[in-house]
Amino acid sequence: MASVIVLDKLAQEGLDMLDAAPGITYEVITGLTGTDLRDALAKFDGAICRSGVKITAESLEGNRRLKAIVRAGVGTDNIDKAAATKQGIVVMNTPAGNTLSTAEHSIALMLALSRNIAPAYQSLIEGRWDRGKFMGTQVAGKTLGVVGLGRIGLAVAERALGLEMRVLGYDPFMTEERAQKLGIELIATVDEMLPQIDYLSVHTPLTDETRNLIDMPQLEKLKPGVRLINCARGGIYNEAALVEGLKSGKIAGVALDVYPDEPCTDNPLFGMPGVVCTPHLGASTEEAQTSVATEAVELLTAFLTTGAIRHAVNIASLDPKTLEALRGYLDVAYRLGRLAASAQPSGLSSCHLVYRGEIAQQDTKLLTSAFSAGVLEGALTEPVNLVNAGMMLQSRGIEVVEESNAEMGAFRASMTVEITAGKTKQKFAGTLFGKEMPRLVAVDDQRLEAYLDGSMLIFHHQDVPGIIGAVGTTFGEHGVNIAQMAVGRTKPGGEAVGVLNLDGEPSPEAIRAIEALPHITRAQAVCLPKAGELPSWLAG
Ligand code: NAD
Repeated sequence: MASVIVLDKLAQEGLDMLDAAPGITYEVITGLTGTDLRDALAKFDGAICRSGVKITAESLEGNRRLKAIVRAGVGTDNIDKAAATKQGIVVMNTPAGNTLSTAEHSIALMLALSRNIAPAYQSLIEGRWDRGKFMGTQVAGKTLGVVGLGRIGLAVAERALGLEMRVLGYDPFMTEERAQKLGIELIATVDEMLPQIDYLSVHTPLTDETRNLIDMPQLEKLKPGVRLINCARGGIYNEAALVEGLKSGKIAGVALDVYPDEPCTDNPLFGMPGVVCTPHLGASTEEAQTSVATEAVELLTAFLTTGAIRHAVNIASLDPKTLEALRGYLDVAYRLGRLAASAQPSGLSSCHLVYRGEIAQQDTKLLTSAFSAGVLEGALTEPVNLVNAGMMLQSRGIEVVEESNAEMGAFRASMTVEITAGKTKQKFAGTLFGKEMPRLVAVDDQRLEAYLDGSMLIFHHQDVPGIIGAVGTTFGEHGVNIAQMAVGRTKPGGEAVGVLNLDGEPSPEAIRAIEALPHITRAQAVCLPKAGELPSWLAG
């Protein structure tokens, strides 16, 4: 009989499921801290919590029994995941439970903006019957842009289609085919979307790419009278730009549920005409709370009775022998994944991996998972790791095929990845020098030898005299220092590729200046982890 402790208040439906689960007993003990929490945790096989209890390293110290902790909800900041990993305890969360409630909240805000619900009610409270002042706008027939087509973004798109809206979407990990099936018109860049839309709703995590997605330069591109909604994360819209856009009349409405600093009671947008805001209520419905509770119980009971792991946010370290044997190549695979995602920032539909030489006889599934984790890193709300990465790529309709050839090529071991997006194909090959020096050894079919780390520039060009000098001079003018350069070509005078390892990240102007040089056909800036910097699941 496995036993479960419920550490925070949980929806009754979750407790009912625990009651009904065969082979499981449970106790609800809330408000535990310090040694009481440590002593309690040592007596159970599994724990369910929400955000109340703080499961620290001390509370897990010496625990020989606990096997899993499930957070009913998304955020796991209240659990010391590194300590759990060290003790071999799996930590899982329930990222999908909030999806529908948050999607509905986005739609509610869109409609509230369109029909001036909040100010119209306010005017009634103030004793006015202002029918003329609150002329609204119908959403049917209008165009909604959805940035981020993950769980919530897709649910919003589906609902907007139901409201007879036209839906344009942008997500680097959405394939054209899947978008078409869903009735979404996939757009290649956010900038292209902006002049076409009457409403914008964002549903991405907050990352370097999505921070200030709408800022001063984007105001220019927006269609006049646009309405913007953010139920994802504060900071995706630059608030100063929103104020500017509302004042100038370019933006007709702004609806926010999230803020850069929360709790937030003082904000320049609060009280401005055309604004409606809520205090992070996206997931605040009874159904969402019930759904995270039942999902948490399902995850924990499945794990305790069958060993199945889903939605793990930490993963037990690989066994030391496998890690030792494969760490260097797992790092190469992960870096090639990061490179592939940078080189093909949207529309990726398939990845074909070929393992050659010594690594072809190793656990190549693990290498493919490391590659997938590199591709998706930072793009999703939940952490991506060796356990979940492959499945997450596949669930986005991105095909991953692997092939092994034990015969040695030019190196004792190497891996090649060919990525496809529409009609575009790109190929990269990597290997390991020594035990821990990842190297890029081919781009498309051109051999070279470049560091696979830090800031890089890959530029495709015609092999004519003077190119290398022109690139060096141009970067010099933009203050970019070149640490190392490698060039590969099919034949003298033919197509060639150059790879630069740089001391810092080049500015967009510097890259544009390189692209503008004669005989250069394409230049891609790529930012990989520094040499020796490993993702947490690989650090061991
Ligand atoms: P998800 O991981 O399912 O989807 C995120 C999507 O964003 C992915 O499809 C990813 O490919 C895409 N993406 C990543 N970078 C992108 C970029 N630069 N441009 C365009 N798309 C990009 O996450 P989800 O569960 O749908 O959550 C979406 C957001 O909603 C998150 O920020 C989450 O924290 C937030 N959220 C808010 C509430 C609330 O109460 N307001 C509740 C739940 C979730």
